[in-house]
Amino acid sequence: MIRTLDAETRAKIAAGEVVARPASVVIELLENALDAGAETIQIAVDGGGTERIRVVDDGRGMSEADATLAVERHTTSKLSDADELEMVETLGFRGEALPSIAAVARLDLTTNDGGERGTRVVVERGDKTVSPAGRGRGTTVEVTGLFAERPARKKALAAAETEFARITSIVTRYALCRPDVRFVLRHDDRQTLSTPGSGDFIAAMLACYGRDAAGQASTFDATQVVSVGDERAEIRVDGVLCHPAISRARRDHVHVSVNGRALAEPRIRRAVSDGYGTLLPDGREPVAVVRLALPPAWVDHNVHPAKDEVGFRDPQAVAETVESAVRDALSTADLARSADLAM
Ligand code: ADP
Ligand code: MG
Repeated sequence: MIRTLDAETRAKIAAGEVVARPASVVIELLENALDAGAETIQIAVDGGGTERIRVVDDGRGMSEADATLAVERHTTSKLSDADELEMVETLGFRGEALPSIAAVARLDLTTNDGGERGTRVVVERGDKTVSPAGRGRGTTVEVTGLFAERPARKKALAAAETEFARITSIVTRYALCRPDVRFVLRHDDRQTLSTPGSGDFIAAMLACYGRDAAGQASTFDATQVVSVGDERAEIRVDGVLCHPAISRARRDHVHVSVNGRALAEPRIRRAVSDGYGTLLPDGREPVAVVRLALPPAWVDHNVHPAKDEVGFRDPQAVAETVESAVRDALSTADLARSADLAM
């Protein structure tokens, strides 16, 4: 059920620039597709995203009533009052993405929740048109002419290839932390990425980084109990670590997710790097996927409008848990010795 959030809840939600560039549109549409339980997500981008971004999912879709409401401000099916803000387990919860996108582009949404026929909602320059549409279960969102009427915003964007590189890194991050979902990415009708969705970390790594990186990668899974006062929480860390011989100049190939949300999370990235420690050549950074799962009440997803970082109840404990999980995994994988051989 989709409802309108009350004023207090709206006020509590850190407002933010939801749509800064094409990659921000992709993040929001991907998160909606994942929240809808999609098993396959196809992303097609033209002209670096300013011409067209289309995301097709096979998730649970929306009824006509919900699809009509979804494009309005502060409507969400994922949160009903401010108390629940502490407990969000879905990626979206602000009910801002679709209307924010519709405010800066043409939005064309076609959806079907399994009924006989689907619904198409088009929002163009503030005008909303709703009509019946043929479509199987799932949702397609097409965003065209991004910033067409905001020349200053459009001018501030980088070249199409650079904007597409940002989109690629978003899709890669999600593809790696959700190996159970099949992702397909196309740019100007050329397929640039495709993961199998088999649930296997190494298979997703192979699709995103190729044979060298995936060949000597190892998966890991560790659990640590931490406490603040008399509250205890279990932190689970899992993912895949590439061999230290596979390194990059920058830290952005450390892919982090927290409770299913892919994030830049500089502190966790640093902790992963610290876990590799001296196994890495000087000034080099690892290629890794690290997923954190902890009780929702220990995570505050609302601290950063662009959703790059989360707040942790005990950030130090989380960083230490990650660092030692990575260090232990690397030592049991006996990478230390093979790294010497490789160098
Ligand atoms: P939020 O994700 O924060 O709830 P959005 O504006 O992104 O807000 O979406 C509004 C609502 O529209 C969602 O709560 C959800 O119910 C519905 N919705 C959006 N995208 C999809 C999708 N791909 N599949 C199913 N439902 C969707
Ligand atoms: Mg959303």
